[in-house]
Amino acid sequence: MIYSLGVFLVVIAVVAQAFQLTSSHTPRMSRISMMSGEAKSHYKITLLPGDGIGPEIIQATLPVLDKVSKKHGFSLSYTEADIGGAALDRHNDPFPDSALKICRESDSILLASIGGYKWDNNPRHLRPETGLLKMRKSLGLFANLRPAKVLPQLIDASTLKREVIEGVDIMVVRELTGGIYFGTPKAIETDPITGKRKGYSTAVYTDEEIERIARRAFEIARVRRKKVTSVDKANVLDVSQLWREVVIQVSKDYPDVELSHMYIDNCAMQVIRNPKQFDVIVCGNMFGDILSDEASMLVGSLGMLPSASIGVPGQPGVFEPCHGSAPDIAGQNKANPIAQILSAAMMLRYDLHQPKAADDIEKAVEKVLDSGYRTGDIMSAGLKLLGCREMGEEIAKAI
Ligand code: NAD
Repeated sequence: MIYSLGVFLVVIAVVAQAFQLTSSHTPRMSRISMMSGEAKSHYKITLLPGDGIGPEIIQATLPVLDKVSKKHGFSLSYTEADIGGAALDRHNDPFPDSALKICRESDSILLASIGGYKWDNNPRHLRPETGLLKMRKSLGLFANLRPAKVLPQLIDASTLKREVIEGVDIMVVRELTGGIYFGTPKAIETDPITGKRKGYSTAVYTDEEIERIARRAFEIARVRRKKVTSVDKANVLDVSQLWREVVIQVSKDYPDVELSHMYIDNCAMQVIRNPKQFDVIVCGNMFGDILSDEASMLVGSLGMLPSASIGVPGQPGVFEPCHGSAPDIAGQNKANPIAQILSAAMMLRYDLHQPKAADDIEKAVEKVLDSGYRTGDIMSAGLKLLGCREMGEEIAKAI
């Protein structure tokens, strides 16, 4: 068990290492190194608890950060800011400029989750998700990394058969600031004569946007199993044809990495049928949104999956669980805080240059799972059920 979580942690470490790699064939790319900063004795962290279970899982994470920071001799100060529904309720804006300013002035950002039934019927500009998109765009967070590594402790929590998921280790690299979620024109229009409406969005990618995310994927694959699957819909979409052409071009700088292409519909099926075939999957914003959720379900629960969103050096990254605000269990102390806690570990490693503290958190999660503690979403017969708060406390104790 220790071995397999160890491998998971190595994957994360390896991603960190991947970001130190730069290609000598990247004239248009800046020499991005996520790990180029220095460790400090104090860090300013922005907390964005958001909605639903967000405040609970952030609260469960703080004792863990407290314990680990004391152990490693640094301190953290927190400033809370509003995003999503909470921001709509207080500012009538899903990500007000005041929140963006706080984020920009911090070393790193720990985000929980946004959204909920209450705001579901709001117009687009007053939806919680609009705040998330604005934050990603404003902070230039173009790369979203979502590891989906199946832990042996949790194999029984997956709905898929053991033989399909055992050993699965996928990294989805999703482009985050382009594609159909941001492309213009987009609108819903009413024809003044017929009264009929039409809605449209524009899927658009430039050479540069495709190149920078493709390079991330190849660099990550280089220190993993050296396989990149690029996902597109090049048989139908012009934007995907360009995607494929640019990825092929970029791949020439990485001859040691095997590149394959898959259409999104086939990939959605293959992720369930034979997930072990994948190492790194690289895709645009919408396809990545769907595939990363699908891949995460191989692991058993969304409640276990951290993610990192990273942009240009010098800007804080955003570290958040892959799941949403889980309004069905909000306020009941039932949420699994592990994805949030592992996101905090990624924050320590990537933004705060405290890799040993990150290791300690990840090992503590491993210890607590090995001791048989579980939240409801990953519970199996014979194990010990904990609430959200208690899971955070156990992990803090295990550091
Ligand atoms: P969800 O991820 O919130 O929940 C899906 C299912 O997983 C629910 O049954 C939920 O109880 C469970 N779940 C999720 N996280 C869990 C955790 N930590 N512990 C235990 N169980 C957990 O997705 P949804 O229900 O489709 O969306 C709910 C709201 O979240 C919507 O408003 C949606 O827009 C929003 N959302 C936000 C984000 C984000 O903040 N990045 C991502 C996805 C969805």
